[in-house]
Amino acid sequence: MSTTEPTLFERIAAREIPARIVFENERVIAFHDIAPQAPLHLLVTPKSGAYATVAELAAADPALLAEVVIIADGLASEFSNGEYRLVFNSGASAGQTVFHVHAHLLSGGLDEGSLG
Ligand code: ADP
Repeated sequence: MSTTEPTLFERIAAREIPARIVFENERVIAFHDIAPQAPLHLLVTPKSGAYATVAELAAADPALLAEVVIIADGLASEFSNGEYRLVFNSGASAGQTVFHVHAHLLSGGLDEGSLG
């Protein structure tokens, strides 16, 4: 048994914290960001909080990272026009606040040329 505190996103996956969940399978969950930065702003994340950053996930379980990307692509088509930005903040100085790897899926109304 782990003594580590569950992460925010593990608590969402466990239904301990409410969220607008739009997709779930055995290993991945996706839900609306609470503070959307685009008309569609979903977070797509492994249910396990074992990986803090995208590079950790890529090294440990590349298939799971690929699954996150493919699910995000499908959600962009389902909820928007299929075109999107997929952003992984990595490290506090890059804006990461939740150290449980997650993809920001942003779609719709994105200004050309801006970095979002
Ligand atoms: P940042 O806060 O700079 O975007 P992260 O990349 O770590 O840092 O992203 C965490 C994201 O989680 C933020 O976009 C934030 O709005 C979102 N968030 C925080 N709490 C919740 C919640 N309870 N439900 C949904 N999204 C949340």
